[in-house]
Parts: sequence; C-alpha cells; structure tokens
Amino acid sequence: MTALLSLTAVTAGYAGIPAVRDLDLSVAPGEIVAMLGPNGAGKTTTLLTAAGVITPMAGAVTAFGRPLRNRLEQNARAGLVLVPDTRGVFHTLSVRENLALARGGLDEALDLFPALNDLMSRRCGQLSGGEQQMLAIAKALVLRPRVLLIDEMSMGLAPVAVQALLPSIRALADRLGVGVLVVEQHIDLALSIADRAVVLHHGRVVLTGKAADLRADRHAVADAYFGAG
Ligand code: ATP
Repeated sequence: MTALLSLTAVTAGYAGIPAVRDLDLSVAPGEIVAMLGPNGAGKTTTLLTAAGVITPMAGAVTAFGRPLRNRLEQNARAGLVLVPDTRGVFHTLSVRENLALARGGLDEALDLFPALNDLMSRRCGQLSGGEQQMLAIAKALVLRPRVLLIDEMSMGLAPVAVQALLPSIRALADRLGVGVLVVEQHIDLALSIADRAVVLHHGRVVLTGKAADLRADRHAVADAYFGAG
C-alpha cells in the first residue's frame, strides 16, 4: 500500500547538530506505527520533522505523495496533524468549547471517544489526565486527519488510563483509515495496538518490525531499547 507519510534517509536536529540520523520510516493508511526508545533517543525530533516543524538537514519527507513543506498549519489542513505532548487543550474552556475550536468531524470524534459525551460541560482543568488526552486526540480528529502524529501518548497517565485510550486509537485507524505514528513509553501497550514498531536509540533506528513479531521477542526489544543490541 502507498504510504501516506514517508521519511527517507532523514537526518535532522537543532542548530546543525543531528539528533536523528539516516532515518527511514513510513506510515500507510489504517496503520499504527509505534515509536519506542529511551529519553533523548530522538522520538520527538522525528515527530516534529514528520510534521514539518523541523526541516531535515538531509533526506526527504513525503506526505500524501508530495514533498513535505515547512508549514505546520498547511500540513494540518492537508491532513497531517500533530498532537503535541503538551496536549493543546485550553483548561479554562469546557470540553464542548475546546471541540468547537476545531470545526469538522465532531460526530466521528465523539463516536470514537464516547466518554466525552458525558463531560461536554466540564472545564478542562477539571478533567483527569486520561480525559484530557482523549480530548486532545478528539480535537485533532475533528480536523479529519489522514495521518495523526501523537507524541508521548501516555505521559503522566496511569496505565489504566492509557489502556482506556488504546481501543480508540486502534478504531480510528481501522474505521477511518487514519495512519498513526505514536510515541509511547509503555512498550507492551504500544505493541498491543501497533501494526509495526520502530525502536530508536541515540538518534538511529536500532530495531524495526511487525508489532506481533516484536511482542514475541521482547528480549530483542529490551536490548535495542537499552542499547545492548
Ligand atoms: P524524550 O523522551 O526525553 O522526549 P526523545 O526521544 O523525544 O526523548 P528528543 O526530544 O527528540 O528525544 O531529543 C533528541 C536529542 O535532541 C536529545 O539529545 C536532546 O537533548 C536534543 N534536543 C531536543 N530538543 C532540542 C532543542 N530544542 N534544542 C537542542 N537540542 C535539542
């Protein structure tokens, strides 16, 4: 299947110093790709490069068959939407008001996150971390993305809250055909919903494969993750 998003031999970083090197990565329609790796491995840098925030020093990023431009808003309108790890929800507004800020596929978003129906009048500052993350992803869905880039999906969340989010992520890939590139700290949870996974270490891909295969070979994942591979 033709990839929605592809990074080919990408080197990218800050002030001329590479944080990721020679990286190949692609996301197809309806596919969830999990990006794993320890702190500082280059996961956020990769996501920012894939979103068009950071321009690569070398290599190419293609979205929907065209070279990606360095324009976050334009890319979002074209369907490449970043859910930042700061979540991007306004605490003083209600759930309804937050969703109203992003017009479009509201019904689809609420179908995927039915729990939000009961919270529509709640101020977002009073939501749990898991509910805020649901809202952040629902907000991104309202933009009708074709590719969703989710950073640190479970940051600050209890495992039970992460577990509640996962079926919705799988469903948006299965039902809407959205391609998802997700950074997730919980390896097992990430592999349980992903189709493929990429492990980064020191800015390089050290392991990649089908999620099912990686689940069956947890030692290889742990070695790659901790740099013993
Ligand atoms: P974490 O889980 O800690 O967020 P990460 O895998 O997302 O880690 P990155 O945030 O991509 O890793 O960082 C990769 C490297 O780039 C690190 O060495 C980091 O210090 C460096 N880096 C990140 N952001 C900047 C920045 N704005 N300016 C300079 N260097 C940066």
